[in-house]
Order: sequence, then C-alpha cells, then structure tokens
Amino acid sequence: MREVWKSFDGLTVLKGIDLDIPPSQKIALIGPSGSGKSTILRILMTLEGIDSGRVEIDGESIWTMQRDSREVPADRHHIRKIRGKVGMVFQHFNLFPHMSVLRNVTEAMVHVLHLPQEEAEKGAVDLLKLVGLEDKIENYPAQLSGGQKQRVAIARALALRPQIMLFDEVTSALDPELVGEVLSVLRQIAIESEMTMLIVTHEMSFAQEIADRVIFMAEGKIIEDNTPEIIFSRPTQKRTQEFLRTIL
Ligand code: ADP
Ligand code: MG
Repeated sequence: MREVWKSFDGLTVLKGIDLDIPPSQKIALIGPSGSGKSTILRILMTLEGIDSGRVEIDGESIWTMQRDSREVPADRHHIRKIRGKVGMVFQHFNLFPHMSVLRNVTEAMVHVLHLPQEEAEKGAVDLLKLVGLEDKIENYPAQLSGGQKQRVAIARALALRPQIMLFDEVTSALDPELVGEVLSVLRQIAIESEMTMLIVTHEMSFAQEIADRVIFMAEGKIIEDNTPEIIFSRPTQKRTQEFLRTIL
C-alpha cells in the first residue's frame, strides 16, 4: 500500500498508509477499535475502494481508480484474478446455514476452482482434519459451537488456496473458553504454511508468539511497525505504550 487514503462520509479513516508485506510474512495488526484495521483488510480483499494512493498485490495494481470506474468489464476480470489470491476470515463466520460442514467447504472449490466434486471432497476432508473437525463433516452449522464454526470458516477460506490470508478478529465473537481452539489452529497454520498472513487480533500473547512483525495503528495511521520483541517489551512510541497498558 502506498500513501493510501480512505474516508467514509467525510470521516477520514486511513491517512496515508504505507505498507509493504513480503511473501510468507506473518503480521499481527493491532490497535484500538476504529483505528482502521478492518478497512485495510477490506481494501486488500477488494471489498472496499480507496480515495487515493496505490495498492498492489503480487505486482498487480488494484484500486488506483475510484470505486465506480472499476465496474467496467475489463477490470472485473482483473479484480477476480487478484481476489483469488487472497482469503479472509471474519469475526462473524457467515457459514451457509443450510449446507453441511463438508459442503460449506466444497462449495467454492467446485464453483470457483472448478474442481470435480470428488476431488473437492477429498481436499475438504483434509482441511477439516487440519482444523480438527473430521468428525463434524455431516453436521450443520447450527449444531456446532462458535469455535467449531470459526474453524469451518478457516477451512473454507483455505480451500480456495490463497497466497495471502487475512484474519479479522476471528476470536472476538467467541466465548472465552472457545478462543484457545481457534488460536491453536491459527498457530498451526502460521507455523506450517508459506502463506502470507495478516492477522488483526486483540490476543497479545498470541500475536507475540506467532508474528514475525507487529503493526500498531491508531486513528488511521501506522504508529509503530516493529518486531514482537520490541513492540511488547520496549515499544518506541508513546501511543503504543499507552495502548498496551490499557489492554494487557
Ligand atoms: P477497526 O477495524 O480498527 O476497529 P475500522 O476499519 O472498522 O476500524 O473502522 C475505522 C472507522 O471507519 C470507524 O470509525 C468506522 O466506524 C468507520 N467505518 C468503517 N466502515 C465504514 C462504512 N462502511 N461506512 C461508514 N463508516 C465506516
Ligand atoms: Mg475491525
């Protein structure tokens, strides 16, 4: 992201964001509510446009134009190609309620990746094993706990084989006793996969443990961008110190 500005109805929420993320890096994005963290993720997911600046993913430019001018057909193809490289998991898991766990995962594999049903199911079972849900394959979302639903949502996002995964407060809507099972899935993915991961979280010990790099945002700006060691033990910015004091 280069000098990215974004406002909503006159409220400026991103104020010149400059951010380079090398492949495979695991980043924790932290900061107070309303600082613009989700907006950054939504822009990278091409769900949101920008007012000015540049955003590139894997060398391909997105959102150099206004939102309305991207509706031209030539661009839609381009956006679809970029979107295929990025996966996102939200705070509210948004599973398809009328589909089994297995079908929640295979659906996009069949319709987006155009995999044959059998191959999609095989891949989905592997992913559901990875997130520890192989025994829930035939269940429906309503029969699962919040932590289990979120793990299905993670498997579903991974099923599209993204190079980049965005996680937006994926444990914030969960009961405290269910947070650990979701974090341990994320931890495993972070350790084992080559994917680039950008993780918005309020779980500071988790961030400290798995992130290569921690970015602290406040009021639409990146205040501090540093190693977890420095951010959590001797942050250089007063704003970072204040924020960590309020939440640790
Ligand atoms: P964070 O994820 O750090 O809590 P967000 O990126 O969600 O922050 O939001 C930053 C600011 O932008 C907040 O003040 C929020 O209310 C506002 N905002 C986000 N999305 C919209 C939208 N679609 N319309 C209007 N305001 C929005
Ligand atoms: Mg948010």
